[in-house]
Amino acid sequence: MERCILNRTPRAAITIVAIVTAIVVIRISTQPDVYSVDSPFRQVMGTFARVSAVSGSEKTAQLCVDAAFDELTGVDDMMSDYKADSELSEVNNNAFGEPVKVSGALMEVLLAAVEYSRQTGGAFDVTVGPVVDLWRQAGKDSQKPTDEQLAAAKAKVGYENLILDSQSLTVRFRVEGMRLDLGGIAKGYAIDRAAEAMRANGALGGMIDVGGDIQCFGITPEPETRENWVIGLQDPGSDTGLLVKLKLTDTAVATSGDYRRFVLIGDDRFSHIINPQTSIAAGKLSSVTIIAPTAMQADALATAVSVMGHEKGMELIESLPDAEAILIRTAAKGEFLTTSGAQRYIQP
Ligand code: ADP
Ligand code: MG
Repeated sequence: MERCILNRTPRAAITIVAIVTAIVVIRISTQPDVYSVDSPFRQVMGTFARVSAVSGSEKTAQLCVDAAFDELTGVDDMMSDYKADSELSEVNNNAFGEPVKVSGALMEVLLAAVEYSRQTGGAFDVTVGPVVDLWRQAGKDSQKPTDEQLAAAKAKVGYENLILDSQSLTVRFRVEGMRLDLGGIAKGYAIDRAAEAMRANGALGGMIDVGGDIQCFGITPEPETRENWVIGLQDPGSDTGLLVKLKLTDTAVATSGDYRRFVLIGDDRFSHIINPQTSIAAGKLSSVTIIAPTAMQADALATAVSVMGHEKGMELIESLPDAEAILIRTAAKGEFLTTSGAQRYIQP
């Protein structure tokens, strides 16, 4: 039997979340002048997000939660390739014909994306759009793309053909049919912006979780008894089990994996992460978690390491002084590899 699982949340789930959204949990901590507000999960960027804010008043904490969600939805509206009226779609539709003027925010993400492409030897590449689209369609049709289709899509991929002018804030494509896909970086960028907005609105601490990509900053809701934010990493081998707990402060984590989002064609499962060199789904690692100062960096590197595989991926992350990795190999579920510095984040 041919089946296909699409990598977006079904409508029914959205409805359930909309109802749950009405319930906001307010918890007053033991320290009298520290208040925290935890949002319920909300649907944003094709996944579920929750925000916790710690502040000197309940009202300010709530304001910070609202400000964080405003940033998340704002970035989604700007950078989603699913939305026909997003700024990204405008670039995709017009940047071959003429340079397209973009916002400072989009330019910032694209400049960072190109930097990550260079750093990862092209494993991370936001111009992978044509190949991603081909595999998405393949999932819908339950039919693998042909070699000709893959070759045609691959010819449109290559960050070297993306021309960014940071002075005039314009973007141009050197190749017809190029398409940008910010699915591997926009979530991280949005999380960093949300954290900034929370600080600007008076948060003393906070956590933003968008589909398991997380940024934690400042004090926890129980600052007297708990110094670090603690987050759980899911075991890709099980639906509910936690693999490990991480303690974080002023740090971000992002996880890329083939265990939640993939395309199923017949009995074959294809990751939604594409190796830009081959146009085929990355398949060597089932879960890659990166710990880094910004969520954008963690997000992009997690995608890149999924493509690079454990040997080259580990080598790259070990070479970066402020990033750490926790990898789970497909062939050895439950067992994980870490970079030397990752241990200090792992809660015994
Ligand atoms: P998730 O969205 O599950 O958190 P990632 O952060 O790894 O996972 O992002 C995967 C998304 O990134 C894909 O759905 C696609 O939109 C895009 N993408 C796929 N392959 C690459 C790649 N090699 N470089 C950059 N982006 C990619
Ligand atoms: Mg990513």
